[in-house]
Amino acid sequence: MFVGIDDTDSLMGGCTTYLAAVLLEKLGTTYKENIEETGKPPKKWVHHQYPRLIRLNPNTPYRTRGNGAVAFHTPDENIGDIQESVLKSVEEHSHLKDRNTNPGVIFLRDHSKMPLLKKFYQKTVSELVSIKYAEKTAEKADADIYKFNDGRGIIGALAAVGADLSGDKTFELLAYRVKENYGRKKEIDEESVFRMDEATSPETFHNIDPETKKILITPHGHDPVYCGIRGETAEAVKKAWDLIKPLEEIERTQVFVSNQATDAHLREKKISCIKPYDCVIAEGLVKEEPWAIKGGHVFFTLVDGDSAIDCAAYEPTGDLRATVRELVAGDRVKAYGGVGRYRKTINMEKLEILELKEKTRVTAPLCCNRRMSSAGKDRGYKCRRCGRRAGEEAAVEEKINRKIRGGLYEVPPRARRHLSKPLQRMFRE
Ligand code: ATP
Repeated sequence: MFVGIDDTDSLMGGCTTYLAAVLLEKLGTTYKENIEETGKPPKKWVHHQYPRLIRLNPNTPYRTRGNGAVAFHTPDENIGDIQESVLKSVEEHSHLKDRNTNPGVIFLRDHSKMPLLKKFYQKTVSELVSIKYAEKTAEKADADIYKFNDGRGIIGALAAVGADLSGDKTFELLAYRVKENYGRKKEIDEESVFRMDEATSPETFHNIDPETKKILITPHGHDPVYCGIRGETAEAVKKAWDLIKPLEEIERTQVFVSNQATDAHLREKKISCIKPYDCVIAEGLVKEEPWAIKGGHVFFTLVDGDSAIDCAAYEPTGDLRATVRELVAGDRVKAYGGVGRYRKTINMEKLEILELKEKTRVTAPLCCNRRMSSAGKDRGYKCRRCGRRAGEEAAVEEKINRKIRGGLYEVPPRARRHLSKPLQRMFRE
């Protein structure tokens, strides 16, 4: 049986991954031992020995933080007991008093219905979907759904079960704090994080922001998470954790298999087809010179035939802004990112430069091996050495060297979405 759970936490605390980790321990003998002995789940549901942490559309207005949902597989024995345990845990550990916490739980027994859920995931990771659509999908798949409050969590719960990890996938080891430390400053030997990064990167990634040297594995928040280490394999993240020196008590750790850092959310779309909250890769020409607004945010307009959309490199995107500033009208590019409610702007995660337009400027002609000087407004040019004069029409067009090259540019790790695939991973392939 597959179990999917989502939307149990609020900004005040809680964490669906923690709930899953505790629950898996509770199901302990039923879950772990049987799985290891029988290894029964269908082959396509890869890495069934690890629960899944599945990130969904990062632009959805309903998310509290990173729009994460969890799923795991249990053996087909004692289904009734397992379902009861899961529902009891969700009821007990969810922040149900917060009206933005809308837990959803799904149970899927019929493995042959997985393609329906896969299709549902592919839409949910990239677009906005409705609770109704989730209910219809669950009905067709004979999945049991359980809703708390408005039950929106069934969307994430279904998608987490349906996520296709047979291609690209990553792993994350999450370490959890003891309850009395929730909300407190995280105590960690910072040197050990730098050493871990040196010893395990690129098998692990997003440990440290290279520019600011900020440690990225210990996110802020009131939730139980102490740190998260991301990597290519379960072995890599476990090895990395062994190298970390926590300076506070750790309650438990849990490794998840995940769609994080895979770009699973991005779909190539024509500008005219982009809908509110979509995650897209849109190709077109830069319409005019980029512009900046207060706060250091830089924009350009992307056009494709009659359609246009603005693309933004906001302040936290760091060096990506310097690249955007160098674009000129006519450059052919692809903008990777998500759009908001009004579909006005692509919030860029990556920029791909496909073709750079030749950039020229009009300048004075040469004489005596030097540029002639201006003879005054609309009066042409004169040579300071030999005194020769030339009209306005003698002006020449000069090619300017472009400071940027073709290729992919990304935002720094500190500003990256959970789902964004780092270039370091793209080039590994
Ligand atoms: P986390 O804290 O685990 O990173 P989160 O707190 O940001 O995640 P959730 O609490 O899971 O987010 O809330 C997101 C809600 O949005 C859930 O109810 C989920 O089912 C729903 N949701 C997820 N993806 C979509 C989507 N594409 N369209 C509509 N609703 C979605």
